[in-house]
Amino acid sequence: LDREVTECRACPRLVAWREEAARVKRRAYRDWDYWARPIPGFGPPDAALLLVGLAPAAHGANRTGRIFTGDPSGDLLYATLYELGLASRPTSVVHGDGLELYGVRITDPVRCAPPDNKPSTEERDTCRPWIARELTFLRPTVRTVVALGGFAWQAVLPALAAAGWELPRPRPAFGHGARVTLPATDGGTPLELFGCYHVSPRNTHTGRLTTPILRDLLAEAARSAGL
Ligand code: SF4
Repeated sequence: LDREVTECRACPRLVAWREEAARVKRRAYRDWDYWARPIPGFGPPDAALLLVGLAPAAHGANRTGRIFTGDPSGDLLYATLYELGLASRPTSVVHGDGLELYGVRITDPVRCAPPDNKPSTEERDTCRPWIARELTFLRPTVRTVVALGGFAWQAVLPALAAAGWELPRPRPAFGHGARVTLPATDGGTPLELFGCYHVSPRNTHTGRLTTPILRDLLAEAARSAGL
């Protein structure tokens, strides 16, 4: 799946944007050969905890080829995972640095960098089969999903339903600290879904999301996943 997704060109606007970013580049990265393709999930295929973001940054993961790698959102996320013993290194600046995640996988519901970090509803829906398939592969082991932001929350709910979990009615609303139990349709182990503010500078610079707030939520999610 990880290999296959990197070949996807289903969204013309996003394909054009990811390639344009690679052509124009940011001055600080002018020596870089940008990845400029869809970003696969990162972490073990038998993870118990799945973190779901939004979409790659044009000069972050779209440049480095690994999710949340080489951008400020990743600085906070990986440092916190390291602090919790869930990552082998506190930083994620380049792909191929040996970083490992322990029991945790990270993915995006939209795999290509969008203009202004805003995928359209149509692009979100077009990309949904990728995350739904990823959840199907993870189903034997995944116990907890953390949606980083309202976009991730809205995007992951139908993907979870497609992968075999029941959604409550009415659909639960996103909020930081929201927690919902989704029964498995086959009577198997239920899944815990957590809401968490996205780790973007928009939230960290305003103080809405601080390191302790993120650490507390991820620690609770890790506990619920048995990590
Ligand atoms: Fe394909 Fe998803 Fe990228 Fe659209 S956003 S081109 S569906 S990988």
